[in-house]
Amino acid sequence: MGTPNADVRAWVEECAKLLRPDRVVWCDGSEEERRRLLTESLLNRELIPLDGARHPGSTLLRSAPDDPRTEKRSFLSVLNRDDAASSGAWMSPEDAKRKLTAASDGAMKGRTMYAAPFVLGPPGSPFRKFGVEVTDSRVAVLLLRVMARMGTGAWEGSAAREGDFLRGILSTGDGREDRRLLACFPDEKLFWSAGLDGGESAFAARKAFTLRIASGLARREGWLAARMAVLGVETPHGGVRYLAAAFPPGCGKTSLAMLASPAALPGYKVWTVADGAAWLKAGPDGRLWAVNPEAGFSGAAAGVGSARNPRAAGAIAADTIFAGAALRPDGSVWWEGHDDPPPAEALDWEGRPWTPDSGGRAAHPDARFITPLGRLASLSPRWEDPQGVPLDAILFGARRARLEPLVYETFDWSHGVFAAACAARDGGGGAPRRDPMGMLHSCGIPMADYFALWLSVGRKMSRPPRIFRVNWFRKGPDGAFLWPGFAENLRVLLWILDRCRGEAPSQTSPLGEIPPPAGLPLRGLDMPRETLRALLSVDGDEWRRELDSLRKYFAGFGDRLPAAFGREMDALAARIGP
Ligand code: GDP
Ligand code: MN
Repeated sequence: MGTPNADVRAWVEECAKLLRPDRVVWCDGSEEERRRLLTESLLNRELIPLDGARHPGSTLLRSAPDDPRTEKRSFLSVLNRDDAASSGAWMSPEDAKRKLTAASDGAMKGRTMYAAPFVLGPPGSPFRKFGVEVTDSRVAVLLLRVMARMGTGAWEGSAAREGDFLRGILSTGDGREDRRLLACFPDEKLFWSAGLDGGESAFAARKAFTLRIASGLARREGWLAARMAVLGVETPHGGVRYLAAAFPPGCGKTSLAMLASPAALPGYKVWTVADGAAWLKAGPDGRLWAVNPEAGFSGAAAGVGSARNPRAAGAIAADTIFAGAALRPDGSVWWEGHDDPPPAEALDWEGRPWTPDSGGRAAHPDARFITPLGRLASLSPRWEDPQGVPLDAILFGARRARLEPLVYETFDWSHGVFAAACAARDGGGGAPRRDPMGMLHSCGIPMADYFALWLSVGRKMSRPPRIFRVNWFRKGPDGAFLWPGFAENLRVLLWILDRCRGEAPSQTSPLGEIPPPAGLPLRGLDMPRETLRALLSVDGDEWRRELDSLRKYFAGFGDRLPAAFGREMDALAARIGP
């Protein structure tokens, strides 16, 4: 058993001195330990049992009512304010430390503190990072165990030296309102929450470790942490090519990562490598390599229907923790958007009796599942490859009802990084909510520095992946989606892969290379020519307005904005024309 080294033990002891638990238990990651924690969680109603036949090995997590919305209590702490991601609520590290220390003082009295070693990234991988989380929440330990490789065994071969490990402190506290907050300290590789629901803190810690803290480490070490799905596409001629897709939350990463091919395209298969976060490094061969830092996957329950994401639906049929779902009398879970019609009665996500006439929702709008990746039938045989998988293409997207065509290829890396930073979702009142590379709420460094990091990693590669923009969400005048999406997105992936091999036709538009109408593999899809033309159209007037909006947006980054972005904006303006 790889025993955590003296530095790690010293840090855990320091935490125990502050939190003052009755005892400290080191988690070994064993199955016996998992069963024990699960039994205790069920006895204490921290998890709700589900019917064993309908949901083998699965449980329901009811989060504290206001905890799912922790944004207002959540802070990013770095040395100077300038250095905080443009989005994050900021608090100075001194203030955040002082508040969290006060809130954590004696917070685990009468309780057990679990010290859980974990590893992110595949075993033996040069990408991997060691960490340790201390918490009095059994649920947090159980969630960590799904999301990461957890336990003292996971630390085998660890070189984690002083200061060289990720740290998490998650204490549930006494519920006192003034003692509830969380902060992330990228410089110290530290995530710290106090007084918050264990499950919600665990979800926040996961995002902190894989993206926020990782983006700080990545800047120091010259690689990239990205909010991405990574997938392999196998074609009938054999061979698997790898792609990554970076979209903001709720824009289709999980769905794409486990896409089930349409019947009209036999012989193609998508293999899942990652569905929400990826770590990317330039390899000695001049290509970009990706690994999944996680060992589990989680997604919006509403996105999982047998028609929308059948593979996820299959995976969550067992060994899953559901959060924020409603509970039916037969011991099964339900949510708005479920395959089944609304039940006549249920307990809502807070455990209150619910009927369709209650007026409110049965499930929380953010109802989620969390499942070991091993349950996925489409899991790539290379998901644990220590070197990762080499990327042919990266797709960036978001959600625009107009403006953005279904797909275009950018002209080069610099243009691609710029186009990625322009990603936005439609907001209320028509103003776009920009979410560059989907990282706005997950970046631990200033966004402008994150752009610069992308540009600099690009300079390290002789064979960089090609960068594409996609938009599955364009709508027609009647408000309906123009593109069927989901499984049919494979058609766009195939055009992209053919482009990467230099085999697909394109036509040059002001935005980039777009498929000619006959260029997309649309066999078996009944799509009127008009619709296809609308999907691929680039409207000059709309784009001139967008460009004004983009100039204002990027001006907000001041001097930090890479000079290349100014050049890209001018070039785009020139291509669109007056
Ligand atoms: P993630 O948060 O980026 O992983 O996104 P999900 O894959 O969980 O999907 C978010 C939402 O977008 C769900 O409601 C999906 O059903 C929906 N969605 C995913 N892919 C598509 C698509 O191609 N077309 C449409 N119209 N909706 C999609
Ligand atoms: Mn997802």
